[in-house]
Amino acid sequence: MENQTDQALVIINPQAGNGNLVNSLKDILPDLSMKYNDLKILHTKKEGDAKEFCRQYGEHVSTVIVFGGDGTVFECTNGLAPLRKRPTLAIIPGGTCNDFSRTLGIPQNIKQAVQTIVQGYTAHVDVAQANEHYFLNFLGMGLVEEVSNNIDPNEKSLFGKLGYYLSTIRTLKEADTFNVSVTIDGQQYNEKLVMLLIGNGEYIGGMSSFIPNVSYNDGILDILMVKNTDLQTLKEFFSSRIFNQEFSENIIHVQGTLIDIQTPQPHSIDTDGEHVLKTPCKIKLLPGHFQMIANPIS
Ligand SMILES: [Mg+2]
Repeated sequence: MENQTDQALVIINPQAGNGNLVNSLKDILPDLSMKYNDLKILHTKKEGDAKEFCRQYGEHVSTVIVFGGDGTVFECTNGLAPLRKRPTLAIIPGGTCNDFSRTLGIPQNIKQAVQTIVQGYTAHVDVAQANEHYFLNFLGMGLVEEVSNNIDPNEKSLFGKLGYYLSTIRTLKEADTFNVSVTIDGQQYNEKLVMLLIGNGEYIGGMSSFIPNVSYNDGILDILMVKNTDLQTLKEFFSSRIFNQEFSENIIHVQGTLIDIQTPQPHSIDTDGEHVLKTPCKIKLLPGHFQMIANPIS
């Protein structure tokens, strides 16, 4: 503990991706042990372990390195965000979609990702708090959330992001609407929506974002409210064919930092692909709350 800046914790989820991550440790440890004097490696065995490791060790290391998928990153986000002294967070992509690592420009090749950690460039990253949880990438209700519920695990492992996409299209055939009251920095919207999406990161399900100019470090959240519209418009929207074009009148795009979501009945919420929340939900942006390893040229 003499020199805290040289201590790092590696959290590996052996179940992530194709389940081969433990074999890949030999590719990452030599370079990381050159970078850090003291390298602690912890394997997760069950849900909640990564969060608990972060809670326990986060204030005593300079860097936490997550080697896993988006679920493990979500757990680490939740373990680290409440800490007063937060270490630098680094991601080595080990899952199927690896959404936030893409946003940070981290190479999807494991050895190259380690090189960005060795280089050590960090970026300030906004973190969003939703009730007692935290998310880095997105919060979704309706379609987005149904998409991740409907992912066929076989499709996910076989086809990766394509599976996510197929699932999206399947969901679109049966898109349900929900009534919601969303208050964004004091402005209230009472809408009937097929999807509510609050974005911080650029990628969802391995695909480039649906939200124009979304940024993880601009101190603001981007909110998309998609009204009940014809399926063709929505499919084009999801397949990115209208990416960067003007959104139709059925899609409301607002920015804000304090968001309050109310529904007549408790409605499930997806945060970064995990289903731990229901409405009512209050969301607050914590600007620059994390320092994360990023690619300086992304
Ligand atoms: Mg932003």
